[in-house]
Formats: sequence, structure tokens, C-alpha cells
Amino acid sequence: MDGNTNKIKLEDLGYNFFFEDNRNKLGLSEFLIARVTSEHKGVYKIKDAETDYLAKVTGKQMFTALSREDYPVVGDWVAVIKVDKEQAVVRGVLPRKTILKRKYSGKNKTQIIATNIDVAFVIESVDRDFNLNRIERYFAIADDGGVKPAIILNKIDLISKEELDEKLTQIKNRFGEVDFITTSNVTNEGLDELKNYMTKRKTYCFLGSSGVGKSSLINKLLGENTIETKEISSYTGRGKHTTTTREMYFLGNGAIVIDNPGIREVGLTDSSEGVSSLFDEIVALGKECKFIDCTHIHEPGCEVLSALESGNLDQEKYSNYIRLKEETEHYEMTKLEKRDKDRQFGKFIKNTKKDIKRYKY
Ligand code: GDP
Ligand code: ZN
Repeated sequence: MDGNTNKIKLEDLGYNFFFEDNRNKLGLSEFLIARVTSEHKGVYKIKDAETDYLAKVTGKQMFTALSREDYPVVGDWVAVIKVDKEQAVVRGVLPRKTILKRKYSGKNKTQIIATNIDVAFVIESVDRDFNLNRIERYFAIADDGGVKPAIILNKIDLISKEELDEKLTQIKNRFGEVDFITTSNVTNEGLDELKNYMTKRKTYCFLGSSGVGKSSLINKLLGENTIETKEISSYTGRGKHTTTTREMYFLGNGAIVIDNPGIREVGLTDSSEGVSSLFDEIVALGKECKFIDCTHIHEPGCEVLSALESGNLDQEKYSNYIRLKEETEHYEMTKLEKRDKDRQFGKFIKNTKKDIKRYKY
């Protein structure tokens, strides 16, 4: 295969002059270049024109001293050296064109969660909990990192045309000239419009609270059930196992999608009255539970479950609460697990080899 064909394909993954220029300036032209498509416990799945493989950062081999923000994240372009057919070592991260950062409320700390995104879709579901302030906060996150925001109003099957118009008016009054698309995963309204909006070689992400329909939308875009949606059994309240690991997907039309920087991860919950007050009711009920560390899922003497049973607590609100809690716990766990990432490397390789077969582009 000649270099020219090769290059065109890298561009299909989002590569462009900006990255090439920096690669040359940094003297990284001798290394292979690939894009990070997922990260799991400190191991990266990366993709280049030819194939998917795995990469790791090792202290010794990285070309500069690392601060936290220098570590690769999903969306990054990395310069690597292959150690064998399926494994590589990261030598550098190319400068990022745009970044999405998570903010820790009250602390002066941030963490980069995804990079090189062209458009951030801010999703709200129109049926409940429609909140212009929250949209604005997501806009600010996009803005900070140089990412263009656009709004998706989802679940329009659940409200009338008049109600939808009213919400659109509110959005226009507040945000002026912003791109927006209205969608439903039930009636499929707006999905073609969304697909057409997303163009080849551009990278998109979906920002929004848990439950607004991000996974469902991405599945529709992909045309297959790749991401698990988070149904919660009304009986036990236990969510099915879901993953909050970010992952990059390639749509049939050549657009690139990064899944799910969840609400916790963009740091909205603590600081935003709109979001946390959503669960005030549950938090208050929880104070009356028999056990102080009640998870409100199966314990006897749980006031949350009894409110749910008697109909005093809305099932959907409860489901969202459990979902968000699980997301948070998953995130905390991931941080701990990073400590033994080396031990995990072999295991991940094994699992990912199976996975990679799915990735044809
Ligand atoms: P995520 O947490 O943002 O990824 O949301 P999910 O995709 O998991 O969806 C949460 C719930 O909303 C699921 O029960 C979906 O079936 C439901 N849902 C998603 N999109 C729509 C929609 O357009 N209309 C309706 N009525 N329900 C939807
Ligand atoms: Zn409880």
C-alpha cells in the first residue's frame, strides 16, 4: 500500500493538516500515528489507517515528563512505536485541537475527558426536567475547549407540537442563533436530519444527563445495538451492567462519534442547583432508612423503596437516581483500578482482541 492511500485513510479518522503540522514541528514524523478510540484502566485502544491495536504509556518511553493532562484520552492523536503486531508504546500526544474538560466543583482541578471534537451535542429530553441553565453550563464546557455546541431535544414523542414550539422559543430567546435538532427514538423523527447534520471526518460527542437518550440515539445512528441502554428493572431497581467508558464509533456516513462523557464526568452535579435538587426528595427519604449506608435497592426498612411502592415516589426519578449513582460509583472505581493497570494489561489485551473484530471501517 503506498503512503498516499494510507494518508487518506488517516484523514477518514479525523486527521488533518493541524495534526500533521504539529507532528512535524515536534519531530514525531518517524513514529506511527494513530487515534485513541477507547481507554480502559490505562490501556488505550488505538486505530490507524490499517488496523486497531493496543497501546500503553510507560514512564520511561514517553518523550516528555508527564503531567496528568499529557496522558492520552479518547480522541487524541498519538505517536507510537509498535512492540509487536498488536501492542504499541505511546511516545507522545499530538497537540489537541479542542478539548472537553471535567471540572471538579469547589476545587481548582480539571481533567480532560475527550479531545479533538468538532461538535458537542447537548441533549435534553423534553418530557421532564427541561433546564435552560443546564444547557448553558454544557455550552460553557464546550466553549472552554473550543468545541462548537448544538442542541438536541430528544423524546419529542412525549409532548405535543405546541409544547415543543414553546420550548424551542425558550431556547431561541436564551441562546439566539444556535443549531438545534429535535428527535425521537420512538417515532424516528429527526434522526435523518441528525445524520445529515453530522459530516464525514468530523468528530461529535453527546453531552447530557443520564437518561436523556444518548445511548439510544447513538445506537440509532449506528444502526445496531452496540451500546447498552440503561433499562432499570422496576422490580429490583437494579440497573443492568452498563459501562461508562468512553468509546469512539464510526458511522456509515463517515462521521465519528465519541460516546458519553456522563453528567458526573463533566462535573455538573455538585455545583448545579438544577441537577442536584432533582434528587432532593430521594436524599430526604434516604435519611429515614433503617440502615445508614442503605443503597435503596434491596434493604429492609428502606424508605425510598417504600415510597416507590406506595406511588409517592416517581419510578422514573428513582431509576435516574440509581443510574446516576451507579455511574458515579463506576467512575470512582475506575480511578482506583488505574493503580494496577499493568496487571490488567494482559487481561485487557485478551478481551479487546475479541472486541477489535467488531471494528471494521
Ligand atoms: P442515556 O442515559 O442518555 O444513554 O439514555 P438511554 O439511551 O439509556 O435512554 C434512557 C431511557 O429513555 C431508556 O428507557 C430509553 O428507552 C428511553 N428513551 C430514549 N430515547 C427516547 C425517545 O426518543 N422517546 C422516549 N419516549 N423514550 C426514549
Ligand atoms: Zn434506603
